[in-house]
Amino acid sequence: AILVIISLSVIITLLSYAYFNWRYSLRSDIQGAINRKEFFAFYQPIVNAHTGEWQGAELLVRWLHPNGIVTSPAEFIPAAEQSGQIQQITLQLLEKAAYEKKIISEISPTFYLAINVTASMIANKQYVDSLIAMIKQYPSLQHDITLEFTERETFANVDIGALLAGMENLRNVGVRWALDDFGTGYAGLSTLQMLSFDTLKIDRTFVASSVTDAVTHSILGNIVEMGHKLQCYLVAEGVETAEQATHVAQLGIEFCQGYYFDRPMPFEDFIAKLELSGYN
Ligand code: C2E
Ligand code: CA
Ligand code: CA
Ligand code: CA
Repeated sequence: AILVIISLSVIITLLSYAYFNWRYSLRSDIQGAINRKEFFAFYQPIVNAHTGEWQGAELLVRWLHPNGIVTSPAEFIPAAEQSGQIQQITLQLLEKAAYEKKIISEISPTFYLAINVTASMIANKQYVDSLIAMIKQYPSLQHDITLEFTERETFANVDIGALLAGMENLRNVGVRWALDDFGTGYAGLSTLQMLSFDTLKIDRTFVASSVTDAVTHSILGNIVEMGHKLQCYLVAEGVETAEQATHVAQLGIEFCQGYYFDRPMPFEDFIAKLELSGYN
């Protein structure tokens, strides 16, 4: 038995050492990628639920490695959030978005861009000041920019007063606010009222099963009712079929985002489609 315990503890030590090394080297890889500016955004259109017309787009980060491989956020965002490197990544994306949005607005002047942040970033006064400084530097960022953060991150770890102040200060330079993954998280009604979002993005789990499942269907109905009582626009995330699109439009959801309409795509493809679409 002692032998088993000893060998188990050796294995555990080795595994945690390997894990630590992996985390550590991921962190330094991310730092290299920040220095070389390897992060960029795919654009996914957000459309009018009734007409399909493009209204805006969400920027979804990707990492382009020197060898040409592109990795998705699931592989580096958790580490970047934990290390705080997400702050630099977001500033780089925003600066790039300033140029890209200028090109977009020449085609479609009121088109909006949504960029992902985290609640803890916005509760950080110093960081909010750096976001505001960048927005003041680029006129294209001073209108039709929505920042969204997820409800999945427990607000318990975030100073709500500081978050509220950060949101307000950014509102004063034109930013609008969306709550991501609405319905999956922990934000109570009073928190939602206090933070007064412009938009709620309904998590795709509700969208996917509400067509087939009566319970989810009624939950989705309640979410829509609650969202409208909070005087928010609603976006249905993850719309994959025509049936789902019809369904959410019938429920009164204003906007859709999902593979049924468009997949996230490189900026060049996005701008080409926007020019062809006549959505201006
Ligand atoms: P999210 O903010 O909820 O973004 C939506 C995700 O759903 C995206 O995955 C998108 O590609 C995917 N999606 C869109 N339509 C459909 C659909 O019809 N069906 C399905 N199954 N999926 C769909 P992606 O690009 O892999 O991003 C994953 C997550 O990574 C995002 O979830 C967001 O939480 C995070 N993320 C992405 N970019 C950033 C960023 O710049 N900063 C931060 N902090 N997080 C980011
Ligand atoms: Ca999002
Ligand atoms: Ca989401
Ligand atoms: Ca327009």
